[in-house]
Order: sequence, then structure tokens, then C-alpha cells
Amino acid sequence: MRGLIFLTADNSLKLKNDLQDPKPNSEEVVVRVSHCGVCGTDLHIMQGHFPVAVETQLVLGHEFTGWLQEANADSKKNQDGNFGTPVFVNPNGRCGYCIGCQEGRVHFCGYRAMGAASVGVGRDGGWAEFVAVPANQVHRMPKDLPMSTGILVEPISCVLHGYDRLFTAGAAKQLDPTDSVLILGAGIIGLLWACLLHQRGYRTIQISDISPERRQVVTNMKLDGMSPKQPTELLSNTYQLIVDCTGVPKALESAYKSLSSGGILCVFGCAPEGVKLNLPYYDLVNREITVVFCRVNQFASDRAIDLTYQLHRQGYLDFNRLGIQVYPLDQHQKAFETLGKRQAPKVAFQLG
Ligand SMILES: [Zn+2]
Ligand SMILES: [Zn+2]
Repeated sequence: MRGLIFLTADNSLKLKNDLQDPKPNSEEVVVRVSHCGVCGTDLHIMQGHFPVAVETQLVLGHEFTGWLQEANADSKKNQDGNFGTPVFVNPNGRCGYCIGCQEGRVHFCGYRAMGAASVGVGRDGGWAEFVAVPANQVHRMPKDLPMSTGILVEPISCVLHGYDRLFTAGAAKQLDPTDSVLILGAGIIGLLWACLLHQRGYRTIQISDISPERRQVVTNMKLDGMSPKQPTELLSNTYQLIVDCTGVPKALESAYKSLSSGGILCVFGCAPEGVKLNLPYYDLVNREITVVFCRVNQFASDRAIDLTYQLHRQGYLDFNRLGIQVYPLDQHQKAFETLGKRQAPKVAFQLG
């Protein structure tokens, strides 16, 4: 089969036409991939920031949709004629028994902590024609949700978890849709935060990004009450909520002064281990700033599927307006170049 492999020896990528077809075990099914996104996590892995637990090579890609291809002959998991069913795959497994799972905080699942492999991160993922995945991580796509749009379920699941964190951390009590919000970073995660907040009634949403192309995407989205900003033109003491989607401490530290007193700082971006965040102790206390940290939760819950479907129906997820560029696998270099130069908020591969 065709696929793009990541070689751990030199952190390089190679397009191969003769990769071995996956062989599912009795707990797995094979998915023929339709679309697969490229995520910030993939870039971190390719740059060697997040080590992967495989020895030589790995097919990356954890945001994908496809069609059920086959079950293992021994499998009881897919015996009811589901061949060809459009599905998307939740990249992460859970045990269902540990305290994290039982309390509904599946991102703290001890089974994952013990190294259970995430699809596309610790075991082969969706940047190939076929992939074997645990059968209980496969979900049927809602009817009339396009296969391309389905790749957003996973990032939307992350954003929904961040939004939930504002409530579980008690911070949301301080928020009202009339408040001004600043989102740092107009990559796809920042844009999806904007979509969710807009859907929930917020109408003063600004998104800052250093890239003019990405600021143009914010304008193109044509959401009333949402506008792009240059990081240099932020006013101080203005926003009740700042959501960092950059993972870049400098961006967060310099935007911090734009937070109004009693405001909420939601730290949502991912930074590699060892990166430090430098916030002013005295000011945090004096102005009673609430800081909410979010571990990005890649569990594509039923609520995330539902939310993706709602946002799609409400017109938020149009790829042209969001500036998402879709490439065939053999143009992967161009795709990574576009993303690397921040010329698009997101790129994805179409395989099927
Ligand atoms: Zn991701
Ligand atoms: Zn668990």
C-alpha cells in the first residue's frame, strides 16, 4: 500500500508504494483512509520534540476518516455487514476501569499512562491507504457529514475539552457572552475555539497571529463580531478571557497584559517538555487572574461528534473559509511547507 513513513533515525519522511498492508488482530479492524489531517503534534514529532515509542518507523496521522475495510477472520467485532461504513477513528484508547476512566476524566486513564499506544503517535496511523485500529475506537460518521470535515472531530474534541475546563475549573462563572475574548494564534485550534465561542453567543472575539495569511483567514470566515489582530496592536487591560493556542510562552507572556482584572487566562497550546512559562506573580495576585491549564484531550467523545455535526450544519466548518488546504499524499512536501510558513491554518491529506 501507499503511505508516508516517518523514520526515527533521522526524523525524515518517505513516501513508499510498497508498505505492508496492516494485519489486524482479533480486537482490530482495518480502515481504508479517506482524509487525514496534519496536526501540531505531528510537527512536534517530526522535529524530534515529542519522542515516539517505536524503534525505526511509524506512519503518523491521528485525525482521520475512512471506510471499514475488513475485520480479522477471527474477530467478533465487525460481523454485521459494516463493510464500507464511513467511520472516523478515536486515536486514543481507554481502559474503562481506572479511577480516571470511572470519573469520566479519560485523559488521565492509567492504561494510557502505562504506554497504551495512540493511533498515529505510538502505532501506525492515517497517512497511509490502510490502517489497523482497535475496533472499539472506531465510530460511525453522522449521515451527511463529509469525510473531509470528519477530520475535525479530533481537534474539536480537544477544543470542547478546553471549553469544559473553563466550567470544571469554576472560571466560566466569571464569563458572559458579552465579554471580550482574545485568542492567540489563528491556526486551526484558534479558529475552532472562535467557532465554538461564536456558536455559544460570544460576539467580541479577536484573534491575533503574526502571519498575514492567517489573519486573512480570520477575515474570510466572516463571523460577525470576530476580527484579526496583529500581536503588536493589542490593548492592555481589555479582555476578560484570553485563550492561548500557540504553545509559545513569549506570545502568551506578552499578551498577558491585555487581560482585564479578574480575567481568565486559558493555557491551551502545547509546548515541549521543559519549556517554562514566566508570568508576573504580583500582578496575577493583585488582579486576581484565574489561570486554567488544559491538557489537550484527544478523546473524540460522542459530544465532540455531535458538536462537529452541529457546527457543520451551522456553516462554521467550510474548508475554504477556514483556509484548510487538502493535498494528495505525493505533495506532502508542499503541504508541510505551507504549514511551516504559516500560510494556512491547517493542511490535510486526501487518500481515498
Ligand atoms: Zn491532533
Ligand atoms: Zn482507564
